[in-house]
Amino acid sequence: MHTSSSHQATLIDGKAYAAALHQRIRQDVIDFHELYGVTPGLAVVLVGNDPASEIYVRNKALQTHHVGMRSFMHMLPETTSESELLDLIKQLNADPAIHGILVQLPLPSGIEPHRIINTILPEKDVDGLGEVNVGRLASNRPSIIPCTPLGCLLLLRDQLGDMTGQHAVVIGCSHLVGKPLSLLLLAEGCTVSIAHIHTRNIEALAKQADILVSATGCHGLVRGTWIKPGATVIDVGITRLKTPDGTSRIVGDVAFDEAVHVAGRITPVPGGVGPMTIACLLENTLTAARLQMKESSICT
Ligand code: NAD
Repeated sequence: MHTSSSHQATLIDGKAYAAALHQRIRQDVIDFHELYGVTPGLAVVLVGNDPASEIYVRNKALQTHHVGMRSFMHMLPETTSESELLDLIKQLNADPAIHGILVQLPLPSGIEPHRIINTILPEKDVDGLGEVNVGRLASNRPSIIPCTPLGCLLLLRDQLGDMTGQHAVVIGCSHLVGKPLSLLLLAEGCTVSIAHIHTRNIEALAKQADILVSATGCHGLVRGTWIKPGATVIDVGITRLKTPDGTSRIVGDVAFDEAVHVAGRITPVPGGVGPMTIACLLENTLTAARLQMKESSICT
């Protein structure tokens, strides 16, 4: 089953799912305003002028407006010192109009990201990367969950429902994606294997997966032969490839043309996990605003 070239996996349409999520969040923002008389606000901070980061930040601001939230952009020069950035974070922490704070990574050298992220109040840490939220996720307590892993989880729940007992193999174990996603899948009742750059014979491990996630940035790593027939494949990777005509296109970690004939379901790149990340950032901002309105700081 699922191995003939005529077989086509079901495409997991992250774009459509994200659009539906945006719609729901827009309504939730209206309801939130009716209840509390407050509009959720998201502050996005960018240091330096990396063109890719600038595009991400502007897109985040645009989407924030689209769902009816307030957006506050802080574009700081490359020369900003760590103490200046820390002062800004403290101001944003104290500002009641701001419910979520996101500092775009990477930061210029000379600024310690760990110190910056952990200065953001845990209840405003909409990226979920601070130690309090990471610790809460690891302890199975309610937390703000990093956006991309949350996006993967929502897609998987939508596609598979109950995942109890499924073998999930996650390739890549970063703080941003692989590690938090592994914890989320564990909490769903999956048996989770985590692979990384030093793992031996990943192919044999991957082949056992009912759910195979790849988050490495290594284009074409996951071949069709690595996939168990019928498995669900989530491709988080993003690599920008230059084409001969001078333009570029985005590809994932999975050799899609092979995988689509073996997998049961698969996320395309682009249009799979990518659109879910911003939708989940907006969802997290709403979660953060609710936490602050209930005055139940997640620190206590
Ligand atoms: P990272 O560089 O921090 O981590 C990469 C991980 O992959 C590491 O754990 C490393 O050990 C592992 N790895 C690298 N090469 C490997 C190989 N050949 N075999 C096995 N493991 C290997 O990256 P990250 O921040 O976790 O991001 C991973 C990918 O996901 C990148 O392509 C990134 O652009 C993409 N990403 C996408 C989204 C999205 O919205 N879709 C969001 C975040 C990251």
